[in-house]
Amino acid sequence: MNLYKADIKYLPGMGPKRAEILNKEANIYSLYDLIQTFPYRYIDRSRFYKIAEISSNNTHIQIRGKIVAFTTKGEGRAKRLIAHFTDGFSQIELIFFKGISFVLKAYQLNTEYIVFGKPNYFNGVYSFVHPELEKPSQERMQGFMPLYHTSEKMKNNFLHSKALQKYIYLALKQLPTDLPETLPQSVLKKRHLMPLYDALWQIHFPQSLFLLEQARERLRYEELFYIQVAILRQAGLMRSKQRGYAMPLVGDAFHTFYNQYLPFALTGAQKKVIKEIRGDMMRQTQMNRLLQGDVGSGKTMVALLTMLIAVGNGYQACLLAPTEILATQHYEGLSALLKDMPVTIKLLTGSTKKKDRKPLHEALQDGSLHILVGTHAVLEDEVQFANLGLAIIDEQHRFGVAQRAKMWAKNQRPPHVLVMTATPIPRTLAMTVYGDLDVSVIDELPPGRKPIQTYHLYENKRANLIRFVREQLAQGRQIYVVYPLIKESEKSDLKDLEAGFESMQKIFSEVVVAMVHGKMKPAEKDAEMQRFISGEARILVATTVIEVGVNVPNASVMIIENAERFGLAQLHQLRGRVGRGADQSYCVLMTKYELSADTRKRLEIMTETNDGFRIAEADMKLRGPGDMDGTMQSGLPFTLRIANLSNDGVVLQQARTDVQEILQADPLLASPQNEMLLSQLRYRAHDAVNWSLIS
Ligand code: ADP
Ligand code: MG
Repeated sequence: MNLYKADIKYLPGMGPKRAEILNKEANIYSLYDLIQTFPYRYIDRSRFYKIAEISSNNTHIQIRGKIVAFTTKGEGRAKRLIAHFTDGFSQIELIFFKGISFVLKAYQLNTEYIVFGKPNYFNGVYSFVHPELEKPSQERMQGFMPLYHTSEKMKNNFLHSKALQKYIYLALKQLPTDLPETLPQSVLKKRHLMPLYDALWQIHFPQSLFLLEQARERLRYEELFYIQVAILRQAGLMRSKQRGYAMPLVGDAFHTFYNQYLPFALTGAQKKVIKEIRGDMMRQTQMNRLLQGDVGSGKTMVALLTMLIAVGNGYQACLLAPTEILATQHYEGLSALLKDMPVTIKLLTGSTKKKDRKPLHEALQDGSLHILVGTHAVLEDEVQFANLGLAIIDEQHRFGVAQRAKMWAKNQRPPHVLVMTATPIPRTLAMTVYGDLDVSVIDELPPGRKPIQTYHLYENKRANLIRFVREQLAQGRQIYVVYPLIKESEKSDLKDLEAGFESMQKIFSEVVVAMVHGKMKPAEKDAEMQRFISGEARILVATTVIEVGVNVPNASVMIIENAERFGLAQLHQLRGRVGRGADQSYCVLMTKYELSADTRKRLEIMTETNDGFRIAEADMKLRGPGDMDGTMQSGLPFTLRIANLSNDGVVLQQARTDVQEILQADPLLASPQNEMLLSQLRYRAHDAVNWSLIS
């Protein structure tokens, strides 16, 4: 029998109606799907508790005894049934708010039952609310009882956890003992993994905690293994298919700039990543590389040098930024650097005037424009290049995968693509969602940077903050003050921001205070921003529009208001706006007094470390991968049932290594011994989330 095809509706007691509900609600069709529905928890049924033993730390437990009386309390909605239950020594109340007449009919007085549930502590006494009751029987499960997630609809159709347990048991009974393996023998041996047959039994009906752990390890590994098979095989296919433009030269543009105009010596890390990028660009296949580097690590210079390689080989290059402010700043910075070079550069954003667009389009099409810097506006169809050879995307997390794909379509052959991100991506995500990209890391900051000092202040210490800001202003520094702005409460947030602006103006009347927020017209925003960049304004009050990329080296203080409302990644990004010059920089996190435990933890991490990778890992732990931004979640080839990206990094790395080895020997998995891998891949893809999104 083929378990992958065997329809669940033929299981004893299941029938077509319930099967259909399982199809729809839980995506369970075959016996194998059913078996792949793993418990979320287990109840220890290996022993009975005495009522007197119950203490607050009990989770689910079982007690054996009899009901001695039923009474009711309350009226109407508050009416409840109380079954007084004894284990022969003491008594406890079993309380039912619903199904009272059912309970009265189903259970008899003075009959032996096993009560099963989580004790509830209220007003100094323990009780059970809606516990399960069962007659003791021979067949009863001993040991660990599995619990399964079910939906409301499933529950209403007798597909509650217990029923699933029964069906899964019946399905497991049909497993042949020589069940074909789903992992290669070499891998099982190398990683000391439990055979599939045992793992499936033990995950549902563990005989001991030790065996359960082994089963989990095996299944977790398997899941991550297939994630890697999916990603790495796809990446391999793409590489073999996507021909790119070979750029064999370093080129004159690069050499001239490097020897005459480079304003500082590159860091070792910058040199290293440029070498890696150059290696890709020389080849005939398209580059798809992710450049990771913490805020301030100098990605822009890497971008410029990379673009000069493309230009030196006779191609055009394009740099995309997620916001207009950032695009403008890149454009201005790069034009200044290139001012004595025979390289042309232009800016294209949503607010580029119509009359300026025409010549720009023409220059792009006749090839006289070498470098285009811009926002999403560049993606519009009427923007056509003569020969776009390289596209660089800055701060990728704002830029969907779909847009990445759009850039490719600009040419017959896709240009080389370099994605730059300052948000450090936890290693596990780099190996999964971005697993198809090659990764370069700038793991070194330019010399002379002093680590930013970060402080957390409660609202009642604002006087200290003001004194501190005054000192910094006296030393000639500039200051950012950032307010949160989220959609739901936009109006009151805007009020906070404006009130903050006014009070800064009043308190620091000796200097100019500028303000930017997302509701302003682009031109207005730009003008305010420019006042700060030029140094005319000494304080900038802003929303998170400045989060990404802005570079004002003289700014040395970042004050974040209502810091409790920001996530870790965002706090780190914001902090990265300072510490860009040679002066000691500071970040001050202002919060109210009452904070949740998680928030406290976030603030603590911020004050402890400047290391973006540590922060990213902590962030993922605190939020859980389920909460990661949409692109990342939907970027997985299929949903994880048992593995967890935030905890299973080590296993993921092992799986990745093993898969790489297999693919190295057989890139397309075409050999007979790897046929099983392909069929598993197909099986798993049936609950795929957006596999097509991974480019
Ligand atoms: P990010 O990686 O956050 O985009 P930037 O490219 O904006 O960082 O660089 C941050 C600052 O560091 C800029 O002022 C830039 O000129 C400067 N910088 C970059 N590389 C070096 C270097 N090798 N030596 C000194 N300063 C550098
Ligand atoms: Mg940047």
